[in-house]
Amino acid sequence: MAAPLLGAPGPAQRRAIAKAITLLESTRADHRAQADALLTELLPRTGRSLRLGISGVPGVGKSTFIEALGLMLIERGHRVAVLAVDPSSSVSGGSILGDKTRMERLSMDERAYIRPSPSSGTLGGVAEKTREAMLVCEAAGHDIVIVETVGVGQSETAVAGMTDMYCLLQLPNAGDDLQAIKKGVMELADLVVINKADLDDAAATRAQAQITSSLRLYGLHARPEHDRRPPGASELPPGHAPTAGTAVAAAVGGGHREHGGAAWQPRVMRMSALKLAGIDAFWNAVSEFKALQQSNGGFDEKRRHQALAWMWERIQAGLKQQFKAAPAVRAALAETTARVLDGRLAASTAARELLTKFSGDKDQRGSV
Ligand code: GDP
Repeated sequence: MAAPLLGAPGPAQRRAIAKAITLLESTRADHRAQADALLTELLPRTGRSLRLGISGVPGVGKSTFIEALGLMLIERGHRVAVLAVDPSSSVSGGSILGDKTRMERLSMDERAYIRPSPSSGTLGGVAEKTREAMLVCEAAGHDIVIVETVGVGQSETAVAGMTDMYCLLQLPNAGDDLQAIKKGVMELADLVVINKADLDDAAATRAQAQITSSLRLYGLHARPEHDRRPPGASELPPGHAPTAGTAVAAAVGGGHREHGGAAWQPRVMRMSALKLAGIDAFWNAVSEFKALQQSNGGFDEKRRHQALAWMWERIQAGLKQQFKAAPAVRAALAETTARVLDGRLAASTAARELLTKFSGDKDQRGSV
């Protein structure tokens, strides 16, 4: 499968990308084995792109913006892939991010590849498929990968955890109600873009000033770095310990605030995606970010930590699945849950009991 994928851009390659991603998204065990073999084969050709996360509430202008940006970038010789993370798509039965009419011009261009969100249910599952699809697109030569998500819940953290730079789109009136901008999301943002500035430039300018000052505020009160480590970051083998001046926390975005003069300071910009105003400036900021991160070592460091955090995240998810499927656990789970709910058993004792059953079950079956 890898041959046409790694070949020249064109219809055959597009089909190969689609086929590879479908394979990755399959839940069949034999497909999973093939998919893992494919990923291992592709891995040396991956990683040479800029991974850009873009989030914002529905209607803020994400697809208008991404299409304008994508068209500009392919004119400049880049190849763009657009992927989406929208865990709600499996609930609603169709993703707003997967709407075929979105980004029509960009999707028709052979230099671009657009894929709607996988709909495998849990956020972890959706994020896993998207992360893998990103590797496929990179191996096929897409040097800009945009991962889009709706501005709700944990999906933003997931996207920030798989991209090099995380950008948040806001509406001009957002500054009026800063509560509407979740602090956690602001901490992830490398760039905040006030879109639809054409509708009310005064409001957009106000929002820009307010968000800029609140970013500074969050920056001043940033949590210590060890607090912001992604799960598993502390599992780094000797020799891979985080070095001073690079951002461990950057594995999930943010983490760029306490590294002195050479560190990136999050910015707030105004834009009109519809009128194509500010797209150029946006890209200049992205390029500046990339150059800075590459010169201070933060770029590669963040990728390494993201990969490791990802491995641990998936191990946790996999173990939980195995745990729930283990016969001894299944036999006891309902009763134990009821005892915890009734207050007859401490939650921690219940957890220990079930874990003991789980390991006993494993020992009996002789597998790990
Ligand atoms: P998404 O849901 O975030 O992907 O938002 P869309 O890109 O679909 O945009 C939602 C609506 O806002 C559409 O009608 C767009 O034409 C409009 N829109 C997007 N960007 C702008 C902008 O910069 N200015 C104005 N006035 N409208 C915009």
